[in-house]
Amino acid sequence: MASVVASIPDTIAPFLSSPKQLLINGSWCVAQSGKTFEVVNPATASVIAHAAEGDAADIDLAVRAARDAFESGPWSRMSPSERGQLIWKIGDLIEQHNDELAQIETIDNGKPFSVAQVADVPLSADMFRYMAGWTTKIEGNTIPITVPYAPGAEFHAFTLREPVGVVGQIIPWNFPLLMAAWKLAPALACGCTVVLKVAEQTPLSAIRLGELIQEAGIPEGVVNIVTGFGETAGAALAAHPDVDKVAFTGSTEVGKLIVQAAGTNLKKVSLELGGKSPNVIFKDADLDTAIPGAASAIFFNHGQCCCAGSRLFVEQEVFDEVAAGIAEEAGKIVVGDGFHEQTSMGPLVSQEQFDRVTQYLDLGRSAGANAVCGGDTPDSPGYFVNPTVLTNTSDTMEVVQEEIFGPVVAAMPFDTAEELVARANDSVYGLAAGVWTNDAGKAHRIAKEMRAGTVWINCYNIFDAALPFGGYKQSGWGREMGHEVLNNYLETKSVCLGL
Ligand code: ADP
Repeated sequence: MASVVASIPDTIAPFLSSPKQLLINGSWCVAQSGKTFEVVNPATASVIAHAAEGDAADIDLAVRAARDAFESGPWSRMSPSERGQLIWKIGDLIEQHNDELAQIETIDNGKPFSVAQVADVPLSADMFRYMAGWTTKIEGNTIPITVPYAPGAEFHAFTLREPVGVVGQIIPWNFPLLMAAWKLAPALACGCTVVLKVAEQTPLSAIRLGELIQEAGIPEGVVNIVTGFGETAGAALAAHPDVDKVAFTGSTEVGKLIVQAAGTNLKKVSLELGGKSPNVIFKDADLDTAIPGAASAIFFNHGQCCCAGSRLFVEQEVFDEVAAGIAEEAGKIVVGDGFHEQTSMGPLVSQEQFDRVTQYLDLGRSAGANAVCGGDTPDSPGYFVNPTVLTNTSDTMEVVQEEIFGPVVAAMPFDTAEELVARANDSVYGLAAGVWTNDAGKAHRIAKEMRAGTVWINCYNIFDAALPFGGYKQSGWGREMGHEVLNNYLETKSVCLGL
């Protein structure tokens, strides 16, 4: 089967042909080394642009700019209300450029334009607006204190919440614009300055976002954007002695490297890492909703979601019906170029990702798994993999234990809720879980027992700027979004005044 093909819209030609540089201290510049790297359209495997290849030297310049802006720039003197208005304006500009940003996302990442247009870009705009509202609500407490060793003495004690300082942020390629928004918006709301290192596979939308951030009037040096590779630019940012905090989203493997690198100056660390999320369908669920819901839980964004519902547990009595139903849903998916209006699943992001997913398919097959549908790749130069449902899998197989990050779900039957909970929690990860049942009591009991940062009941992949997201166990440290994310970017200062 061949994948659906389409042509690139003319509207993004000027952006694609413009230089792709680094944003440092309010100016766009080439990398110190003069090097660039190729940006590839994953639907065709053709080179569409070249981006500046920032490395340690550029990170150093960017950190210096962020430090100056933090210590002495107008940003630190700005009132919370003014800061909020500028952040809100970024949201407005993203909304005004919705289609352009969605097109950039499609050509760079491969996701369907129709999806980027209604999900990635509006969620990004909303993230800036939600965080803009927090600028005026970051406050400490007044705390009555006793001080047992100073009887009779009186004090006035209170806390201040202050920006942590210069923040390094490293983001992945699966939702390039949205991940930039998840990181930048709260850091800015807290008054931090930032060096953002975007993923080498998908540098384009962050470059356009950088232009919009300038247009919004964010002062020079507050947001610095470096394109480049993880092992060079990313590692330099994580280890930089003048960075106060590093926020990372990506693989658990690299997350561990970030923690080591951060040890150089004990910078604060927050991590949003991998997952192998259990999605559970009980026989009393509304299967007409649960089956397409479970299909979407794994196939949305081509399975390239850290929270993808990749381990599907189905109560034995309805297992065959559900497995067949999900295979039928997979059969309705049109795999192809994200610019084609019929496409509902684009290519994987890169050759490397394609190789990784197809190797897992081979591993699954040789371990005895059965592909009820998919398991193969369309005939195309792009990095397409057909949506795949594996059955006859066991809990110890690699395809069940390890994060594949592709459109591959392992479906397994279970008999009792007790057995199910133990198996669902038998993972080094703990990012998300799904439960489908019409028994509200059971849903709440299972939700409570899941060792996961998010549990979706009778829904999946529901995100909102107000709802915290992050992982238990090796899925991360700290939370993104909601008011909880502010803790990642704030220090608490206790002030005590003797009366
Ligand atoms: P994936 O395996 O999904 O590509 P990674 O965890 O490798 O995810 O990448 C996520 C981000 O981390 C990217 O921006 C990448 O460049 C960066 N990165 C990769 N390796 C390192 C590293 N050693 N130090 C810092 N950042 C890194």
